[in-house]
Amino acid sequence: MVGRDVGVTAGLAGRPMLGGLPVPFACEDDGGALDHSRVVKRRAIRCALSRICGICAETLTRPVTFIGGADEADAGMFAFPPVHLDCAHEALDLFAPIGGRHLGHVEAPLTWAVVTTGGFDLVRPTRRGDPVAFHPNSVLETTLRD
Ligand SMILES: [Zn+2]
Repeated sequence: MVGRDVGVTAGLAGRPMLGGLPVPFACEDDGGALDHSRVVKRRAIRCALSRICGICAETLTRPVTFIGGADEADAGMFAFPPVHLDCAHEALDLFAPIGGRHLGHVEAPLTWAVVTTGGFDLVRPTRRGDPVAFHPNSVLETTLRD
């Protein structure tokens, strides 16, 4: 992050900070614990059922957007809950250039993908305790960001 002027975006403005970076809604647990590299399952499910953004926690608008690694886009399965399109780009503007463990990823994807969709399915794990996943079920556009 040295030499880069990181502007905190509207979607991330007001979020709690960890390591000098705002933490998305989906990466904070209900007790207030923060972890950039983890998607909090309870919050991921809440985002899906209440149709709120995993970054700013406000009501989703169309197109619903998913962010993740290009491999997630290929598989049609995302770990991070749905977000606003604007929030997606704001978050990637901030986190993609610095790499590291962010946006619910233990390892930074080599290539990030932004997928817009008309809808999605919440995929519950078959094994208790495993994470949920999100399947965009009517993809509109996939954009890769290096
Ligand atoms: Zn948002």
